Amino acid sequence: MSDYKELIAELVAAAETPAKTIKKSMEDTGKKAIGCFPLHIPEEIIYACNYLPVGMWGGKTDLKLCDTYMQSFCCTIMRANLEYGMKGTYNFLSGIVMNAMCDTLKCVCEDWKIAVPQVPIIPVVYAQQRKSEEGIEYMKAEFKRVRHALEKLEGRMVMDRDVENAYEMYEDYRAAMRDFDATCVNYPITMDAYTRHLVIKAGFFMDKAVYKEKIKAITAGLKAQAPEKFDGIRVIATGLLSEPNEVLNIFKENNIAIVGDDLAQESRLWRTPGRDIKGSVWEKMALRMADQRGDCFLYEPDKQRGEMMIEMCKARSAKAVVVFMMKFCDPEEFDYPIYKKELDDAGVPHLYLEVDQMIDSFEQIRTRIQAFAEQF
Ligand code: SF4
Repeated sequence: MSDYKELIAELVAAAETPAKTIKKSMEDTGKKAIGCFPLHIPEEIIYACNYLPVGMWGGKTDLKLCDTYMQSFCCTIMRANLEYGMKGTYNFLSGIVMNAMCDTLKCVCEDWKIAVPQVPIIPVVYAQQRKSEEGIEYMKAEFKRVRHALEKLEGRMVMDRDVENAYEMYEDYRAAMRDFDATCVNYPITMDAYTRHLVIKAGFFMDKAVYKEKIKAITAGLKAQAPEKFDGIRVIATGLLSEPNEVLNIFKENNIAIVGDDLAQESRLWRTPGRDIKGSVWEKMALRMADQRGDCFLYEPDKQRGEMMIEMCKARSAKAVVVFMMKFCDPEEFDYPIYKKELDDAGVPHLYLEVDQMIDSFEQIRTRIQAFAEQF
């Protein structure tokens, strides 16, 4: 087996065993870890403070303790995160950073302080008017506040230069991810739906400086091969995240490949590069968020998401869009009628799958995916 295939297998295994991977990353780097709740956590600042940022995107567990604080109509990602916190699973974390981009997150920010007092929380709140001068100034101040909170936690000062270095490393990581994503389009057999997702997900549990080099090596290994002849169905995935993993295996069984995505857990995190300007690192970080398009968690009056997905379908020869609708995720649900009309008008078919991380019976979803595949 060639090196890049070994690396793919390594990252898939790393994503399948997050606790083990995080433990190893902490041992290898000698760093303490900070948990990053979903959606645009400024990891550069955490990294600059010499912590290992690790992703907290829920998981499959019995939901019992969290019901003291959260109603059953909250998304399972947040319920799982709170459940794990209350069970003590996250006691190894030095703290967590959480934003408040939806009503559920706003509530969990407060619930966490009472329910999981042993793991300190640092909130970060993004500007609604993120493109305005005032919004940029506010974001710069907010990022500095996060640095200050981490400095207090770590008990040492962190210089702007440290944050600049971390930002540059993250820019390199984001560029590597964009290259990997674009390359996968030509290798839909090797990078099937399950493998592509797990390789991307592994990055949440590893030091990004280490992970990005593995991604670059995989990308180079793929590019050295001839593009794969694929007679199946190419699709674009949208939504919060393309889980549970069992669903991805059903795509694979039906010869459906995900050749691009608009997922909050995947390309929305790296698709926007920072501007090449002379300003401070704080300004660069604020402007990167200001430049993000088609993201339902960031205010955008002209809603470019549908148009972006239609363009991606054309560019990547995708026949359809698959919507992974996380049950009870309001910001994702509010966007759906808008881009559904745009997809319909453009003649792009889509498959709407309502998912949550606790599903344990997949037969209904299997039938829907089979029926979807048969129309092509
Ligand atoms: S409602 Fe959506 S955005 Fe909010 S926490 Fe849940 S999954 Fe995340």
